[in-house]
Amino acid sequence: MSSKKSNAPPKKKIVIVGGGIIGCTTAYYLSHHPSFRSDIDEITVLEASTTGVAQGASGKAGGLVAKWAYPRELVDVSFPEHVRLAELHNGAERWGWRYVNCGSWEGRGEDAPSLANVGSAIGDGGDKTSLEKTAGLEDSDVEQRKGKGLPDDLGWVKESLTDFYSPMAGDGDTAQVHPYLFTTSMLELAQSKGVKLLLGAIAASIEFDMENVTGVCYQSLTAPMKFIPATHAILCAGPWTPTILPSVPVKTTRVHSIVIQPQPDVQISPYVLFTKIDPPEGFGDKTASPEVYARPNNEVYVCGPGDKSSLPYFVGGVKVDDAACEAIFQQVASISSELRAGTVVKKQACFLPVVKEGKLGGPIVGPALRMAKGYYIATGHTCWGICNAPGTAKVLAELVYEGKITSAKLADLAPSKYATTL
Ligand SMILES: Cc1cc2nc3c(=O)[nH]c(=O)nc-3n(C[C@H](O)[C@H](O)[C@H](O)COP(=O)(O)OP(=O)(O)OC[C@H]3O[C@@H](n4cnc5c(N)ncnc54)[C@H](O)[C@@H]3O)c2cc1C
Repeated sequence: MSSKKSNAPPKKKIVIVGGGIIGCTTAYYLSHHPSFRSDIDEITVLEASTTGVAQGASGKAGGLVAKWAYPRELVDVSFPEHVRLAELHNGAERWGWRYVNCGSWEGRGEDAPSLANVGSAIGDGGDKTSLEKTAGLEDSDVEQRKGKGLPDDLGWVKESLTDFYSPMAGDGDTAQVHPYLFTTSMLELAQSKGVKLLLGAIAASIEFDMENVTGVCYQSLTAPMKFIPATHAILCAGPWTPTILPSVPVKTTRVHSIVIQPQPDVQISPYVLFTKIDPPEGFGDKTASPEVYARPNNEVYVCGPGDKSSLPYFVGGVKVDDAACEAIFQQVASISSELRAGTVVKKQACFLPVVKEGKLGGPIVGPALRMAKGYYIATGHTCWGICNAPGTAKVLAELVYEGKITSAKLADLAPSKYATTL
């Protein structure tokens, strides 16, 4: 028997709970970290859905990536990482990465003969929750040009219905990805390095002894509880995070969205519009504010406001309300004949993870030191999780492989700021 001590680094068994953009991008960064050893380390993503990853907000979001997003300390890492990932892996082809124009549009919808009671459809969006994407913009970011004039290449919104148009942020400050394709690409690239995915695996608890994480208990909808040993566990279950750790103050709101395929001969120029649409004369005074995203494959994504529907047990139980999707279509159709003539190819809903804790707005990213060594949380990314996924994942990989965050100062996002037990 040899008495020699092995010089090999200790084996890391890392379990990531949640296959949304945060979990999949974290799997990518961990498996691409210079200290990752595919012959020694094991990384497993547990995802509750039986059909695949990105079944929640990460596959159904708009996909905006902006330098003016928030919180700035995470955006400052995330935006350049998006640029780097797109260059490295041909993101333009693979996940629709491109720079995009962005503007704020205000005007009145028209009650075209082809629309069914557009006035009440606009009113439908009136008193619900806004996603608050533009909250991070400084006044100086929004050009105060307030006039009717639309940019020359924004031909798919009616100029005659426009009251104001203001470009938001500068050239090169706003980009976009297709969130489902970005998330699934991150996972595929991680899997090419040996990361494993368990679908239909609903984590129930992260277990630890006096000091360290020991593993994760999970079950499927039909099978009994199983235990997967772990040295590190990363909790990124988005809106479902409190079902595993109730002290994490993540709340949720359900948001509907649709995807419109324009007629084949219609080209939709690259604009993302934050709208305020008043109903046609005589249809009341409630305003709707759908967000409209032209995408590189010429489809158009539109999302409405949030509602108070309660979170189902797992992502497969999210209900889609047809009337909410129809209202979103009527709203954008009332300002664009190009969109009105298009076909709605997707009607969907998902839950936004929101953090509101005193003055703290999230996300919550870092070690849960008061729980156990090796326990990390990355959740509550509100309306900027697509933008902030690379920064979040990069700092988690630093924590796991280097023991501290080196690329950003994220003290304000630390779990301990959000609950005394974390
Ligand atoms: C309508 C809308 C538009 C948006 N637009 C943008 C945008 O333009 N730009 C932007 O940056 N952000 C946007 N966002 C925000 C962004 O989508 C979210 O912040 C982000 O997707 C959150 O990712 P996540 O991985 O934390 O959560 P999720 O995408 O919800 O993923 C969590 C995953 O965990 C799984 N899970 C949950 N519980 C368990 C469990 N117990 N065991 C195993 N797995 C579990 C779920 O099934 C799910 O797959 C938008 C959000 C919405 C709703």
